[in-house]
Amino acid sequence: MKKFIFSVALMLAFVLQVNAQNSYFNKVADANTNVKIVKFGPIKIHTYVNPQLVQVSSHIVELKDSLVIIDAQLTYTFTKEVLAYAKSLNKPVAKVIFTHAHPDHILGNYAYKDYPMFALAENIDLIKSNGESFRQVFLKNFGEKDAAPEVVIPQHELKEGTMKINGVKFVIKKYKDHESDIAAIIEIPAANAFFAGDLIYNQVHLFPGNNHLAAWQKTLDGIKKMVKNKTIFPGHGYAGKSNVLDENRAYLKKAIEIASQPNMDAITYKAEMVKAFPNYGAAILIDFGATELFKK
Ligand SMILES: [Zn+2]
Repeated sequence: MKKFIFSVALMLAFVLQVNAQNSYFNKVADANTNVKIVKFGPIKIHTYVNPQLVQVSSHIVELKDSLVIIDAQLTYTFTKEVLAYAKSLNKPVAKVIFTHAHPDHILGNYAYKDYPMFALAENIDLIKSNGESFRQVFLKNFGEKDAAPEVVIPQHELKEGTMKINGVKFVIKKYKDHESDIAAIIEIPAANAFFAGDLIYNQVHLFPGNNHLAAWQKTLDGIKKMVKNKTIFPGHGYAGKSNVLDENRAYLKKAIEIASQPNMDAITYKAEMVKAFPNYGAAILIDFGATELFKK
């Protein structure tokens, strides 16, 4: 029952979000209502967000002759949906890139098992050491129906610097101690596109679990100039402009303010954040993270 109420609340949050953003996005994809497309000349970026659970974004970058997929989903079911959508574009998947090693971005990755997978070396190690235990926690909480049979360890190291895929330049940078311990952000200068991973969320509650709230805020201050006038493709939610970064900075300011109150606990923290940001989706992310944040 609790789960059901949660899903309904998330669904409503999603509807509000879609309505707020319709003016900006070109169109809702015909093939799958969970996908929105942003076009930059010959490059098309398709973003899949499922309104249920944690609203993770999987981005499909459509180049002239091939596709690059950025991130899986928490569930195998949703990740298979991402792949089915990608297949409907009738171009081969050249690479799959993972921004970081949190379960919501990697657990469903078995759906991508036929394609070369890339992650930072540190994140390959984290997936090796934590992937299966994340899967066990998922099985315990959500059952087998939506779980992948295994977590695939990315075979290729994603290196900082530039790589060309199908003639298009991708720039990879490494960030430490923000939402996750370590993450890759990806820029495509030709598309003015900034793939933020979980450095940035859009209209979704921020996960506080790695306890880097202040460092995260500092990272966002540091990239403010870099993302100006770019389209930001977040780790949770659909694409937006640089105002999304300001919204995240305001969220973190509030989170730090509340978390630092004396005798604060996970339940009160969540209630306060939901009250402060009532239209944000995926409050379940606070449940996943806040227990860790207030662990005595
Ligand atoms: Zn995430």
